[in-house]
Amino acid sequence: MTGQHGMASGEGGLSAPHEACGLSPRGYLGQDEKAPVVQGWCPGALRPMMSGDGLVVRVRPRLGRLRADQARGIAQLAAVYGNGLIDLSARANVQMRGVTEAGHAALIAGLRALDLVDETVAQETRRNIIVQPFAVEGDETLRIAADLAARLAQADAPELPGKFGFAVDAGPVRVLEGTACDIRIERHDDALWVRPDGTRLGVRVGADEAAAAAVDLARWFLEMGGVRDGRGRMAALMARQGVVLPFAATGLPDAPAVPAPAPGPCAGGWLVAFEFGQMQAETLATLADLGDLRVTPWRMLLVEGAGQAPALPGVITNPADPMLRVVACTGAPGCVQARAATRPLARALAPHLDRPLHVSGCAKGCAHPTAADLTLTATSGGFALIRGGTAADAPLSLHSEAALIARPSLLTE
Ligand code: SF4
Repeated sequence: MTGQHGMASGEGGLSAPHEACGLSPRGYLGQDEKAPVVQGWCPGALRPMMSGDGLVVRVRPRLGRLRADQARGIAQLAAVYGNGLIDLSARANVQMRGVTEAGHAALIAGLRALDLVDETVAQETRRNIIVQPFAVEGDETLRIAADLAARLAQADAPELPGKFGFAVDAGPVRVLEGTACDIRIERHDDALWVRPDGTRLGVRVGADEAAAAAVDLARWFLEMGGVRDGRGRMAALMARQGVVLPFAATGLPDAPAVPAPAPGPCAGGWLVAFEFGQMQAETLATLADLGDLRVTPWRMLLVEGAGQAPALPGVITNPADPMLRVVACTGAPGCVQARAATRPLARALAPHLDRPLHVSGCAKGCAHPTAADLTLTATSGGFALIRGGTAADAPLSLHSEAALIARPSLLTE
C-alpha cells in the first residue's frame, strides 16, 4: 500500500497548527501523552522482543524459503511455546507471538534442529536479506542471496545496525522496488546493479561480484558515519550533503511504482494472504502439506507448486477481499505502546473503503512506516485521521471509534 497523494501540505503544514482541528502537528498526541519508544532494532529468534502478549520471536527463513518440514516445525513450536499466532513481517520473516521467557531456550533448540537460527545474535542481526520470492532454481537471485548470506556470517563482516537490510531482486522483473531496505542488488535491462537505497545511483556488477560489492557498500556506510546512537539507515545517509559514493556511479532510470502482487497464481505456485498477515499455527501446518513455502515482504506466502487456491479457513485467496485494503499493527492489548485496539476498527471499516487504510496503535506506524492514502492513528483522545501521510504526520481531525464505525465516510469527506 503506497500513498498515492503524497504528503498533503495543504492538509496541515509541518509547523502551523492545523486549521481543521486546531492541533499542532504532534499535538494530537495529547498533552500528557508520551511519544512512542523507538527500539531501533527488530526482534530476532536469539534476541526476541517483549510485547504485551509475551516474547515476539522472529525467524528469518534462509533464502526466504521454508521447507514443508520447517513450516510444520514452526507451527508446532508456536503452539507449544507461544500463543499459537504467527505473523508475517514486511521483511519477509515469520514471527511467533506470546512466547514465554521460560520456554524460549527450548524453542530455540527446536528452531536450531530445523536449521532456522544462526549461531550468534550478531550473525542473525546481519542476515537481514529479502529475496525476490519468484526466483526459480538456478536463478541468479538465489545464488547471489546465498553468497551474501555466507559473507554476512563471516566473523569480519560489518557490524550493521539492527534495521539495516539487503534486497536481492535479480530476476527479469524487479518486484522489490517498493520494499524497504538499505542496499539493493537488482536487475535493470540485462545487467545487475548494486544500489544504495535513497538514490538512483548504482554500480554495475557481475553476478559473482554482486554480494561482495553489497558488503563493501555496507562497510562504506559504516565508515561514512551512517550509524548514530546505534541506529542508521542508508537513505538517511544518502540524504546528507556531500556524500560521495565509493564507486563510479551511474544514474539508473526512475522506476515505475510496482504494486504489491495480489493473491492468486504466480510464477512458482500460488500466493495466499491472511488478515493482517497473521495466521493460526495450524493454518501454517496445513499449508505446508500443500508444498514448500516462500515468505514474501507483502505478508503473503507463496505455496510452491500449488495449481489452485487452497481452500482453508483464515486464508485469503480472493484478490478483491476487502481485508486486503487494510493494514493494522498488533495494537492493544498485544503491544504495550498501543493507545487502542486497531484490528476491530480496521475490520469494521474494510468493507466501506475505496482506497487503502492503515490503522496504527500509536504514532510509530510499525505496520506501514511510509505514507498511506488514509491513516488512523490511535491517541489518548481518539483516532487521528491523516490523509496522504504517515502515522506520525499532522492529522486532519480526531474521531472516536464509534463515530468512525457509524459513519465511515468521515475518512474521505
Ligand atoms: S505502531 Fe502498533 S505495534 Fe508499533 S509500537 Fe505502536 S501500537 Fe505497537
